[in-house]
Amino acid sequence: MDALIKPIRPNKPADAKTSDVKSSELDPSEFMAAAVRADQPRPSRAEAEDAVKTLLAYIGENTFREGLLDTPRRVVEAYDELYQGYHQCPAEVLNRTFGETAGYDDFVLVRDIEFTSQCEHHMMPFYGKAHIAYTPVERVVGLSKLARLTDIFARRLQTQEHLTAQIAAAIDEVLKPRGVAILIEAEHTCMSVRGVAKHGASTFTSRFTGMFRDNPAEQQRFLSLVRGPNR
Ligand SMILES: [Zn+2]
Repeated sequence: MDALIKPIRPNKPADAKTSDVKSSELDPSEFMAAAVRADQPRPSRAEAEDAVKTLLAYIGENTFREGLLDTPRRVVEAYDELYQGYHQCPAEVLNRTFGETAGYDDFVLVRDIEFTSQCEHHMMPFYGKAHIAYTPVERVVGLSKLARLTDIFARRLQTQEHLTAQIAAAIDEVLKPRGVAILIEAEHTCMSVRGVAKHGASTFTSRFTGMFRDNPAEQQRFLSLVRGPNR
């Protein structure tokens, strides 16, 4: 199995204590709000179904044959499901915090959060697992919220790098933890069933902020819990 390691950006050495870059590289509207405004003009459902018919005709199909009559409707319904993240607000999910840390001072790790997303280059699925850790200061979220957050971003057109950065930025911004560590591993069908057609290749992306960015030992501890030999 090939493994493509793609760090989102080089980790700063621990002594480079300049300004805290964390979420500032992304536009907060990307990770703090629903991506679609209520007043944003959108094509009608019928127009979307017609567009699917156009694609069917383009590939050489007879759009009037029995088996395809309901296909445009089904495709648009599937899109509604696969892309529901455009209408969901990441900050809202995290703002429902669980409570106080009650003296807990280590990181919280949720491992193996399965997700499926669609690549923004081909609109083909990529899927895999996200591993998310954060070190709470005051606010702790229910563990399912990190999975919910992952799904909201995954149900938009994505690159794996962007997905990784957005999850980290949202947690940073809303929970204000001492640091966030994210590792995402995924297989991209645009690479496994088309293009170079290599099955089983995994792409890894990571993002470290705060104490994880500044302290390589903490990164290492996170990575060994996620990928260690005792798995
Ligand atoms: Zn792609």
